[in-house]
Amino acid sequence: MSEDCVFCHILDGEIPARVVYEDDNVLAFLDANPLSRGHTLVVPKAHHERIDDLPTADRNAVFETLGRLAPSVEAAVDADGVNVGMNDGKAAGQEVPHVHGHIVPRFEGDGGGAIHSIVRTRPDLPDDELDTIAAGIRGAAE
Ligand code: AMP
Ligand code: ZN
Repeated sequence: MSEDCVFCHILDGEIPARVVYEDDNVLAFLDANPLSRGHTLVVPKAHHERIDDLPTADRNAVFETLGRLAPSVEAAVDADGVNVGMNDGKAAGQEVPHVHGHIVPRFEGDGGGAIHSIVRTRPDLPDDELDTIAAGIRGAAE
């Protein structure tokens, strides 16, 4: 629990939310400023800022719930697809410092872009640098 965290205050009932799913580890509710009909957030009940801060059980619960709810959200609003993602860290656009995943229903012709539209592609990155990056990620993930 963090006193100055809006999602902690939703979790303790002080701030109302349109809850769509709850279990011991996670809460899911509609985004108050939705990008589309059915825009849903999934948060761990424990306050952690970044994915890297999450204990394994909470991390598994958040990602499992995102995967399980995404088709339900899509069906409930009769959407044609969904974007599922997280803004993890300020540089990635995270505004609420309590881990949360977004399920954003998408509709044919809604004018939105793909995840690929959040930053420009980097065709300038040379093969040897991509090899080094891949090796670095393999090392960091060990
Ligand atoms: P992010 O930029 O990933 O940190 O997104 C934070 C999200 O939280 C935004 O989409 C906000 O609309 C949403 N949000 C902020 N306050 C509330 C609230 N009280 N209830 C529901 N969603 C909220
Ligand atoms: Zn919090």
